Amino acid sequence: MTKLRLAIVGAGPAGIYAADILLKHERAFDVSIDLFEQLPAPYGLVRYGVAPDHPRIKGIITALREVLDRGDIRIFGNVTFGRDITLDDLKKHYNAVIFSTGAIRDADLEIPGIDLPGSLGAADFVSWYDGHPDVPREWTLDSSSVAVIGNGNVALDVARILAKHADDLLPTEIPANVYDILKASPVTDVHVFGRRGPTQVKFSPLELRELGELRDVDMVVADEDFDYDDAARAAIESNKQILVIDRVFTKWREEEVGSASRRLHLHFYAKPLEVVAGPDGRVAAFRYERTEPDGAGGVRGTGEIREVAVGQVYRAVGYFGSPLDGIPFDERRGVIPNIEGQVLASAPGGAQENEILPGVYATGWIKRGPIGLIGHTKSDAMETIGHLVNDQASWWSPESPSEESIVALLESRGVEYTDLAGWQKLDSHEMSLGEPEGRARIKVVPRDEMVKISRA
Ligand SMILES: Cc1cc2nc3c(=O)[nH]c(=O)nc-3n(C[C@H](O)[C@H](O)[C@H](O)COP(=O)(O)OP(=O)(O)OC[C@H]3O[C@@H](n4cnc5c(N)ncnc54)[C@H](O)[C@@H]3O)c2cc1C
Repeated sequence: MTKLRLAIVGAGPAGIYAADILLKHERAFDVSIDLFEQLPAPYGLVRYGVAPDHPRIKGIITALREVLDRGDIRIFGNVTFGRDITLDDLKKHYNAVIFSTGAIRDADLEIPGIDLPGSLGAADFVSWYDGHPDVPREWTLDSSSVAVIGNGNVALDVARILAKHADDLLPTEIPANVYDILKASPVTDVHVFGRRGPTQVKFSPLELRELGELRDVDMVVADEDFDYDDAARAAIESNKQILVIDRVFTKWREEEVGSASRRLHLHFYAKPLEVVAGPDGRVAAFRYERTEPDGAGGVRGTGEIREVAVGQVYRAVGYFGSPLDGIPFDERRGVIPNIEGQVLASAPGGAQENEILPGVYATGWIKRGPIGLIGHTKSDAMETIGHLVNDQASWWSPESPSEESIVALLESRGVEYTDLAGWQKLDSHEMSLGEPEGRARIKVVPRDEMVKISRA
């Protein structure tokens, strides 16, 4: 019986689901999987993206942990593809590779002033409050009024963390310095801006409703945004999610505001025009054009320009994938070009845009783009694994396929990799740090400390 030696790069949900699905898949060959992860901890954005006050979602980690704890997938943490291992290395040691490297940085928003001091990316803020080891530990909150651009769940996460009282985050796994900085925050007003109308948002109803439950935070919406046209009314009638979202807005419109010490304002029909600088060269305002429904389910500009005074602007307009050495990359979409997970030999417009690159696969956000929930990465992985299994004839023929040979390579390069036992040590350590304070865990943030605990 043949054996498939498979490398998976990226231990977020997509990579872990792909490994699990392959191990359970009906097949006529043995499988041995090595999962490479640049961080000393697995779970990708479930650990470093999902907000700390969403423990229900973090519960998905329990399911992912069960997969890893079985011990039939080897993990090499603290190993970065492109630096510690290359595509040539993988070809020497494996029959195929799946890239599941996700997305970590902010998509661009090309408006004047977006690079001003005080204009910030949501992904950077998220990485900071979730204790990502590779981002600076300091974060400046120096203004009472801030803007968040975007009408998706990440915008809601950012707005919620900025508006919430720090003490209400204390039971979560936020790092101590994040609590200290949020505790001293001067923010009283968070303004969220979306280009389109209230029935065109990308919020999940649950996430939206949660905002209304924040202690001592008033939800402020403007009546002028709710003058629905036929398309909006049809959307409410035909789509259950939008119906629920509309009910949440209706409730907020009926509520008295004014008693809370903080406010979260939702501005619809607001197309970003400019981040405006003050005399000190820092962000002083957010300028936008009022839009209106165009009658076809979209919006058009009205020419009316408005401005809200803010000291910081957070753009939450989406995440974006990063290119990987030696692997084709679609610069426009921020993904590895692929057909159903089979990687293509060049990006759209390239000479080999329709040719499949043998042995190379993609899954998760780097395959599909940074949209969709954790659950979607499972169906994604099924599709990719289906092709991998069927493509046996085009797998690579590695010269050193033994399980020991990759370990020898990493050791010869002095790579301080961590393994499953190491991760389990770090995991228990974090939980034991949280226990005396009645918290589920306190994350270890510095990378060298994570590695030291794992390799002890
Ligand atoms: C702010 C935010 C909040 C979210 N909240 C929710 C939520 O509440 N509920 C929900 O269902 N979904 C949520 N999501 C979506 C969810 O996080 C994604 O659907 C999911 O994480 C995508 O999985 P992935 O494995 O493709 O990518 P990722 O989770 O990004 O994992 C990719 C992994 O690859 C690793 N990697 C990258 N490059 C390399 C390299 N060169 N070498 C080695 N390893 C590498 C990364 O370190 C990472 O661990 C949220 C997303 C964000 C951004």
